[in-house]
Amino acid sequence: MDKALAYAAQHRDRFLADLIELLKIQSVSADPDRADEVRRAAQWTADFLARIGMEHAAVIETGGHPAVYADWLHAPGKPTILIYGHHDVQPEDPVEKWTTPPFDPVVSDGYIRGRGTSDDKGQFMTHLCALEALLATHGTLPCNIKVFIEGEEEGGKGMTHDFVRGHADLLACDAVAVSDTSWMSPTRPSIVYALRGICYLEVKVRGPNRDLHSGMYGGMVQNPLNALGKLIASFQDAEGRIQVEGLFDDVLALTPAERAEFASVQEPEDAVAADLGVPSLWGETGFTAVERNWGRPSFDVHGLWGGFTGAGSKTVIASEGGFKISFRLVPNQDPAKVAKLVDAHVQKHCPPGVVAETTYLHGGTPVMVPADSAFIQAAAQAFEGAFGVRPALVREGASIPITAVFQEALHAPAILVGYGLNSDDIHSPDEKFKVAHFFGGIDCNVRLYEAFAQVRTGA
Ligand SMILES: [Zn+2]
Repeated sequence: MDKALAYAAQHRDRFLADLIELLKIQSVSADPDRADEVRRAAQWTADFLARIGMEHAAVIETGGHPAVYADWLHAPGKPTILIYGHHDVQPEDPVEKWTTPPFDPVVSDGYIRGRGTSDDKGQFMTHLCALEALLATHGTLPCNIKVFIEGEEEGGKGMTHDFVRGHADLLACDAVAVSDTSWMSPTRPSIVYALRGICYLEVKVRGPNRDLHSGMYGGMVQNPLNALGKLIASFQDAEGRIQVEGLFDDVLALTPAERAEFASVQEPEDAVAADLGVPSLWGETGFTAVERNWGRPSFDVHGLWGGFTGAGSKTVIASEGGFKISFRLVPNQDPAKVAKLVDAHVQKHCPPGVVAETTYLHGGTPVMVPADSAFIQAAAQAFEGAFGVRPALVREGASIPITAVFQEALHAPAILVGYGLNSDDIHSPDEKFKVAHFFGGIDCNVRLYEAFAQVRTGA
């Protein structure tokens, strides 16, 4: 391992130069005009893997944007780790808000700036560079490694999930290492062991068969928009508790140990409120802000429409209106089941005189790997070795949908060993990645594969 770490230290400039080359490829998966660029990023990644001595390195077709696969499977008796990342990036809009060009990366004040630096090219490249360091110095890897870098995490047709479900043999593994998450603070590395899921719905409220004049009909009919407001209000009480019957039945309670760990990393709530420009944080009573965000279901309205919103006044009673909502879910909630409960809630609480209809738009299953599992503990050991401090074991409020696919299709836990920072501005102008985290991530991954190799899988 020491030789590999020394190699990584000696080759830092070249690793950074390689990353910059990859970052210059405009692999914006949501933009059909740049499909060739996404393919070019895939080819670049496959070429890199082949060059460092990974086997079967290839661009693979998914039906959507191409993914990349490679493996090295010569460690009998050792676990097989699937390294996952994505070579596509978010669109750069609004491009005028960037202070440096999104696809011409700049290294300054300890950061590399540009689209995809933190999400996710800089992060997955920490693995590829670590693999190079190990193969170049030892000719072998401590455990079996498969690499799967997809091309449509941020957009496109989303065929990669089906590809994973249809190629469970190719991707079979004992654990998936995902580097696509971030630390809360630069001084405290974190490993994410649980992600929330989501249940997203649209609700339409229909009233009269045409728009009406409120002078001629006001007081005679239920106004769909008045009803819509009541319906939205019915989802939550004044203390922030979700009122959908049965929604909490499958919610796994936070343990005292989890709550203590979260408290050790959380920013003061008034500082967060000040940063957001709100008078105070708010949410379900009885829980701290991070507990609510990481470990409790939440409810949000994302948009609502209906009626007259132009300048001036128009006394219309709109014939219909609607809204889009989502519930973030926690282990062990099931999105399809929640969608049914929400529909029942809407029917029960729909005011008289109008009809409400829900459409379940999409769902994602929450993911959790017990914090005391062997792979998480191995990862924690690697982090401590690389960064000199015990990482916090935390959850995240967002989803990484493919981790649920890995859980379902491969029966493999996703170990979220990210090297980004919450302040990296991913998906925004001026996305950046700490150069020290790029190099630290490479070091950490060398240790990570070594630590994973010690895990007994019982296979
Ligand atoms: Zn990402």
